[in-house]
Amino acid sequence: MSHELRKPVRCPWCKTRLDAATDPFGDSAKPEAGDATLCIKCGKFSLFLGASELRKPTHDEMQELMRSPEVMALWIIWRSVNEDNPRR
Ligand SMILES: [Zn+2]
Repeated sequence: MSHELRKPVRCPWCKTRLDAATDPFGDSAKPEAGDATLCIKCGKFSLFLGASELRKPTHDEMQELMRSPEVMALWIIWRSVNEDNPRR
């Protein structure tokens, strides 16, 4: 379910303003520190520092994310939807 963020955040990769979050595998879309998010614009992962700031994951954190079947499924879905999208 979608959740409007109290304060919009910026993707640390492409600087897109993100004002909502969705938990595709549950019903708790209220992000907390350490939660990962996928930018709908550029398809890169970030981590919440708190409820209002994102940072790029470290190399080790990225490796850990990529070991998650749910994260990989999400990324594959994003990629298939955006494959021919000129917004990227
Ligand atoms: Zn982005």
